Amino acid sequence: MANLVAIVGRPNVGKSTLFNRLTKTRQAIVSDTAGTTRDRQYGKCEWNGREFSVVDTGGWVVKSDDIFEDAIRKQVIVATEEADVVLFVVDVQTGLTDWDQDVATILRRTKLPVILVANKTDNNDQIYDAAEFYALGLGEPQCISSATGSGTGDLLDLVLTKLKPEVKEDVEDGIPRFAVVGRPNAGKSSIINAFIGEDRNIVTEIAGTTRDSIYTRYDKFGFDFYLVDTAGIRRKNKVSEDLEFYSVMRSIRAIENSDVCILMLDATRGIEAQDMNIFQLIQRNNKSLVVVVNKWDLVENKDQAVIKTFENAIRQRMAPFVDFPIIFASALTKQRIFKVLETAKEVYLNRKAHVGTSKLNEVMLPLIEAYPPPSTKGKYIKIKYCTQLPNTQIPSFVFYANLPQYIKEPYRRFLENKIRDNWSMHGCPINIFIRQK
Ligand code: GDP
Ligand code: GDP
Repeated sequence: MANLVAIVGRPNVGKSTLFNRLTKTRQAIVSDTAGTTRDRQYGKCEWNGREFSVVDTGGWVVKSDDIFEDAIRKQVIVATEEADVVLFVVDVQTGLTDWDQDVATILRRTKLPVILVANKTDNNDQIYDAAEFYALGLGEPQCISSATGSGTGDLLDLVLTKLKPEVKEDVEDGIPRFAVVGRPNAGKSSIINAFIGEDRNIVTEIAGTTRDSIYTRYDKFGFDFYLVDTAGIRRKNKVSEDLEFYSVMRSIRAIENSDVCILMLDATRGIEAQDMNIFQLIQRNNKSLVVVVNKWDLVENKDQAVIKTFENAIRQRMAPFVDFPIIFASALTKQRIFKVLETAKEVYLNRKAHVGTSKLNEVMLPLIEAYPPPSTKGKYIKIKYCTQLPNTQIPSFVFYANLPQYIKEPYRRFLENKIRDNWSMHGCPINIFIRQK
């Protein structure tokens, strides 16, 4: 299970610059996947062979009706509830401020490892200026310059010493892991209770164990699956629920540790920024998706036209990835609860789909011939052959071309759509790679 490192601090200290520096190398690789958006709040960092997730708490817009300081305080609290390590960034050039003191007060109370990062130490003289941050009572400030990158290697070395050891979770291969995610009050606990038929979520967990996501295996209605249960679902924090990034922080672990994400939307509220944030996390982690429009019992007019409008609105927001199931359900009346599990299972099996090379070429080559990649700089682009890579996390296809660099995103999407038209990859992300023949 990957560790989660949260970057906190007041605005303008350089959190997002640091975030970019930590996640840069990795993101360049990840964004190769068609349709994934580069978001600036969540990413992966790899250092000396260890990988961890990084969240920039400053990346979320603070609601205008909230008192700014108060909102930041809440963000820091949520971060300390969910992260494994906190990077508390301060600004050497501005010096110590009251806000830094405020944030430090919260951080001194947490049991988590906190690393004090004195950013904007662009030259050696400024190292002396960093001494005043000892007053925060959080140990020695780590002097770095996110702008130039100096000191970030030492910082990462230090982060690695603070991470929790990677424990290999004892889950059986071939049994799907489902995560129920969504913003507060979408009905996550309710649907889980409907799945398992008991009020398990009421149980308060012992402090210390709540932070970890737990796999619980169920064999219900003929389905054998793990539910990835997270603190986020069981333990509510009403103070911070209004924060946009609250639901994101609370979903990260569940998403990272699942195969299929069941994204709960509230039919009475439609799709909003919080839902989109979670959807992006699902995409970034290459997870399969089932969308559940919950509280369908509260919608009076349920005719086909209304359903279509709902579906279109959802797909439009989530484009270009639109090939996923949408189920209108009610956790309260248990309407279509079975269908949700059934669909999650199907979507899971689609992840394992494998298309034989000869069949793939037999179908795809004529389609490519009928609609070839547009010629670029007077050169014909030819795709001669394609194959599906073995043993990948999600179905991944390689197309061999004479000039792969000239094949652009729209054509890649054409290839993806044709694969989706011909083989069932419903709910499942796929990779399309173009390589030199
Ligand atoms: P955030 O609001 O905490 O995310 O801060 P940003 O990362 O957006 O940075 C705020 C400003 O500080 C930007 O103008 C950055 O270019 C600048 N900045 C960030 N890191 C450094 C640094 O190490 N040195 C200097 N001189 N400026 C920096
Ligand atoms: P969570 O925060 O996502 O875990 O949401 P909960 O499961 O706690 O549900 C939030 C509220 O919505 C509770 O009052 C539930 O009773 C209600 N609720 C959940 N699902 C449904 C549903 O399908 N229909 C109706 N009418 N209410 C629901």
